[in-house]
Amino acid sequence: MDLETLDKRYLLPTYARNYTNFVSGKGATLYDERGRDYIDFASGIGVNALGHAHPKLVEAICDQASKIIHISNLQVIEPQAHLAERIVSLSGYDMACFFANSGAEANEGAIKIARKYGETHFEKKRYKVITLEHSFHGRTITTVKATGQGKFHQPHFSPYPDGFSYVSTIADIYDAIDDETVAVMIELVQGEGGVEPFDKAEVQALAKELRSRGLLLIVDEVQTGVYRTGAFLASNLYEIEPDIVTLAKGLGGGVPIGAVMTRHKSVLQPGDHGSTFGGNYLSTRAGLIVTEVLSSEAQSGALTERIAYFDARLQALLKRHEDIFDKSVGIGLMRGLRCFDSKAQASIVNKAMEAGVVVLKAGRNTVRFLPPLLISHDEIDTGFERLETVLASL
Ligand SMILES: *Cc1c(COP(=O)(O)O)cnc(C)c1O
Repeated sequence: MDLETLDKRYLLPTYARNYTNFVSGKGATLYDERGRDYIDFASGIGVNALGHAHPKLVEAICDQASKIIHISNLQVIEPQAHLAERIVSLSGYDMACFFANSGAEANEGAIKIARKYGETHFEKKRYKVITLEHSFHGRTITTVKATGQGKFHQPHFSPYPDGFSYVSTIADIYDAIDDETVAVMIELVQGEGGVEPFDKAEVQALAKELRSRGLLLIVDEVQTGVYRTGAFLASNLYEIEPDIVTLAKGLGGGVPIGAVMTRHKSVLQPGDHGSTFGGNYLSTRAGLIVTEVLSSEAQSGALTERIAYFDARLQALLKRHEDIFDKSVGIGLMRGLRCFDSKAQASIVNKAMEAGVVVLKAGRNTVRFLPPLLISHDEIDTGFERLETVLASL
């Protein structure tokens, strides 16, 4: 059986898959089985922050695998403690962490913390979480319900848990807060929803209001976190201090890991939450290398420089194709080009793959870019040259 037939026969058809068979990668370049190269402007949806086959990550994973991959969370796990210290210190917040295996799981943890806080900190239990329309918080029954997109709330999966409501703008949150509301959960730059950043002053005002009322601000940094926007957290760029932050995608450089960090360090007690795999030796060792490499890139100014280089190419492309694109969106290396219509979006993404550059969709009409944070100038140039060919052929 060829690969496509095998895949279709034995995998549940949950994805509208592309059948390019990538067999290896180096930096931000991927190779398929025929040896064709592709510029990776997607990082597997914002995951491969160091690109492919980064020597330090490969070395750390191999070394760890040769010693110990996993022991349960009933024992202390040395790299887990070090990674917790690392991400708390990079965040600049006084927080403690819980490790999970994915973004959805990290958000589940955040919601559990919020609900228990809502019971223990108020006379009458508060449990409702307000989220925003076009948000994306995960695919579990609870996080999909937290996701403010009706298309994900298919009746076949009902009943859903109670306690979520959606508003369309930050300004609408104030009126939506009732005496059962415990938290607001937001992405500072909506990723899946269309690479849409919120206004800094509006977010700061919201954070201040919630703090003054003893309500929680949960920032879902599953996509924006770990330097995707240029700072360790988008919350750092926005100069806010959230109550709870969740991380996942970029944190392990491709090894599955999720994390929830909170300043409310004693809400969860022994027995309240757990994970078999969460924060094991392999994933936290990977997280340690990813954060070490990226924090030094950020400190040296190399990341800022790369962001500026990418942005210049993006703006040039936008300028030459103002008939197709309305505007550029996003921050750092989490970027998008908003198309006038969704047909253009789909054909750009498909043709780009054929032309040797991997880009993503976001929302209904945004072409999304999430390149590895270490992408080279040459790879950026080649990727944009290939996109230019695609656009010229539309
Ligand atoms: C991807 C994503 C998630 C879900 O992460 P999974 O690892 O797929 O569970 C949650 N929130 C945001 C903002 C994301 O981008």
